[in-house]
Amino acid sequence: MLTPSAKALVPFVSVEQMMGLVHHIGLPRVLQELAACIEEDFRRWPHFDKTPRVASHSDVGVIELMPTSDGVHYGFKYVNGHPGNMRAGLQTVTAFGMLARVDNGYPVLLSEMTLLTAIRTAATSAMAARHLAPKGARTMAMIGNGAQSEFQCLAMQAVCGISHVRLYDIDPAATAKAVRNLASSGLHVTACTSAQDAIEGAQIITTSTADKQYATILTDNMVGAGMHINAIGGDCPGKTELHPDILRRSSIFVEYPEQTRIEGEIQQLDPDHPVTELWQVITGAAAGRTDARQITLFDSVGFAIEDFSALRYVRDRIDGTTFFQPLDLLADPDDPRDLFGMLARAAL
Ligand code: NAD
Repeated sequence: MLTPSAKALVPFVSVEQMMGLVHHIGLPRVLQELAACIEEDFRRWPHFDKTPRVASHSDVGVIELMPTSDGVHYGFKYVNGHPGNMRAGLQTVTAFGMLARVDNGYPVLLSEMTLLTAIRTAATSAMAARHLAPKGARTMAMIGNGAQSEFQCLAMQAVCGISHVRLYDIDPAATAKAVRNLASSGLHVTACTSAQDAIEGAQIITTSTADKQYATILTDNMVGAGMHINAIGGDCPGKTELHPDILRRSSIFVEYPEQTRIEGEIQQLDPDHPVTELWQVITGAAAGRTDARQITLFDSVGFAIEDFSALRYVRDRIDGTTFFQPLDLLADPDDPRDLFGMLARAAL
């Protein structure tokens, strides 16, 4: 485990180092290990400080801070969501985050989290599907083939044993990109020409589209009995993907209801519409899928504990490697009260 050095240097993981770390371990294994890490933290859910994320909305997107603590460590992520960025050649979602010790407040890790968010979102989706999807599910429809999509497909393969993916995006170039990227994955990949075509024969549907509006990616007639829906794209007030009639027919599972009621698909329902917290399914305190014809919906918005799990996973995995650099982030005067003296001596 990493501890701050005598000079209080903070390990920093850049995008390049994160890519190195992922290739060093292997992406499927990272997805499996991170899904296990997230599940471990969901099992100890009551230990965490929890609050809906702090969101600053504008006409074009949102910037959010996502903090949590388990009493030993404190973590937060800075993340944005700007659906129009893609047209300017920028990512819709970018992020970085920090993990710190609670006992002295010193950071123990600063990390890029754009890649890590895609990986943790996919690991969370697959962990949820492992508990909720019909047994023996082998085919997933992947609607929205942007930055998150390949990670979602690979996590469902690595964690749930999915063997076929059916891809659809309103932009055929996005689908073509995902087909290329998944070519050596071992998945059977089919490019589809509509959402209806993509869900043909699928037991799991993942929606991962980006649009700052109430969109209808799936209508009620498209969703048959027994399906599991993994809806990750609707994650802001006024931004949803599913027709409300689908929600009324589904058993709905959420991360943190206080946040999901503001941001998730369920913002379209009455505020007291029943939902089940996923952590309770994992601990056995609540039922998950109870019947083969049941439609299960994971109304995912992304919660701070998943980022905390991802940060502690990276902190443990970089130990003994070169996939980080020590950062001079914290003032470290010889006498803790002589901050000014430290500055004055630097002039000499
Ligand atoms: P992206 O912009 O890279 O990709 C989105 C894709 O959706 C684009 O290719 C676009 O053409 C496609 N699309 C838009 N409308 C569509 C429609 N009606 N039908 C089919 N395809 C459509 O975005 P991304 O980084 O892949 O993120 C996707 C969504 O997931 C975003 O809304 C983001 O905020 C959300 N997200 C959620 C979580 C979470 O934890 N739940 C985490 C990360 C991102």
